[in-house]
Amino acid sequence: MDLKDYIRSIPDYPKKGILFRDITTLIEDEKAFAHCINLIFQKSQSFSFNKIAAIESRGFVFASAVSYLAKKPFVMLRKKNKLPSETHSVDFELEYGKATIEVHKDSIKKNDKVLIIDDLIATGGTAEAAAKLVNISDGNVAGFIFVINLFDLGGCDKLKKHTYKVENLIEFPGH
Ligand code: AMP
Repeated sequence: MDLKDYIRSIPDYPKKGILFRDITTLIEDEKAFAHCINLIFQKSQSFSFNKIAAIESRGFVFASAVSYLAKKPFVMLRKKNKLPSETHSVDFELEYGKATIEVHKDSIKKNDKVLIIDDLIATGGTAEAAAKLVNISDGNVAGFIFVINLFDLGGCDKLKKHTYKVENLIEFPGH
């Protein structure tokens, strides 16, 4: 099974010039979704980690299922003002806009090794912000797994420059 066949590409969404890689078509196929989760789980086994964190909201879809398989705690990195208790917060630039992500101050403990999972990496801004949240919390970044890598946008290279270990399931060029 080639997971690429299950990604729908939508031109000019959410704005002109962006080719949106839509994962809804993947997760709405139970065999493709299960295959995708199993592949992420297999890849996770080459990382040393004790917690999984994911970025709202598409990251949650994949990471919570992998946490279940890996039998590891799942930490939510959420958009601003969504978490009810005390938070750490990081502002960052998106491919199409600006955003803030937050984590509860007590979610990640000193020396936790946190594997970060998201649906897609483009410029890497979101992933870098997620890594900052882990570091502000005194945890360590165990690495990253993405379902899709838009390799022309250089996000993975950016993370590798920070010496983070990065794995992807699917690669697409361009935006
Ligand atoms: P970035 O911070 O530039 O790496 O952007 C990554 C985040 O933006 C991911 O969480 C994606 O969900 C979303 N994203 C950015 N570009 C695209 C795209 N072309 N298609 C689908 N999602 C995208």
